[in-house]
Amino acid sequence: MPKFSTPAILLRRSVYGDYDMIITFLTLSSGKITVIAKNAKKSRRRFAGRLELFALLNIECQRPRGQGMPVLVAASLEEPFSGIRGHVMKTAYASYWAELMNVWLEAEKPQIRMFSLLRYFLDALDKGVLGNAELSVIFQLRFLHLSGLSPDFSECRRCRVPVDAMDGDVFFFELAKGGILCKGCSSSALSAIKLSKGTVKQLLWIQSNDLKKAERLKFSRSSLIEGLDFLEKFVVFHVGRAPKSLRFLRTLRSEKYQ
Ligand SMILES: [Zn+2]
Repeated sequence: MPKFSTPAILLRRSVYGDYDMIITFLTLSSGKITVIAKNAKKSRRRFAGRLELFALLNIECQRPRGQGMPVLVAASLEEPFSGIRGHVMKTAYASYWAELMNVWLEAEKPQIRMFSLLRYFLDALDKGVLGNAELSVIFQLRFLHLSGLSPDFSECRRCRVPVDAMDGDVFFFELAKGGILCKGCSSSALSAIKLSKGTVKQLLWIQSNDLKKAERLKFSRSSLIEGLDFLEKFVVFHVGRAPKSLRFLRTLRSEKYQ
């Protein structure tokens, strides 16, 4: 039975029967995979607290001869990202990012850039290099870019007037078209989200700069909240359903901001 080993981030785990666990990883070599960890529930020693959410591990799996899930044979801890799990708000953001990967990615299809993206942002969240909300804005824009779904802020989606030439301080974004609309074109849009000019400029700036530079951007409070709210709606629209973890994250955030 062929064995394989790979770096892997733990996205999801659930108990299976009395003894086992079913675990979904985002791996470097095989993309998203779901494996069975036998006796992981019963024998704590077997994987000794290593199978924690968001942990970066090196895993070794064995594929069964016939059909069925690969079996997790061994796991060694590379980076626990324990600063995330000890903090409710960070856990909520990481859960949302992990669920996005889980619902969006096709199983067993290598996704090296998605793996690097999640690893990078879990590390940044763990270390607190930026605020959690700022990180989530940048994460979602990168996730959408890698998925080929980037929102288009450069020009009116209908009449093609460039964003710099648009009048007013409020723009409209049409989710179905994936782009902004000028004032004239927005009147005929069925559903459009209002975005201030400042927010559009900040999102556009993040899209056109590399990660290191994007991390130095100082968000204004209003643009941060507006941008975050917009991106979460945009992602849900394109992914096709609202991740459960997003509902939890939004509830938690509204309590915190009140
Ligand atoms: Zn227009």
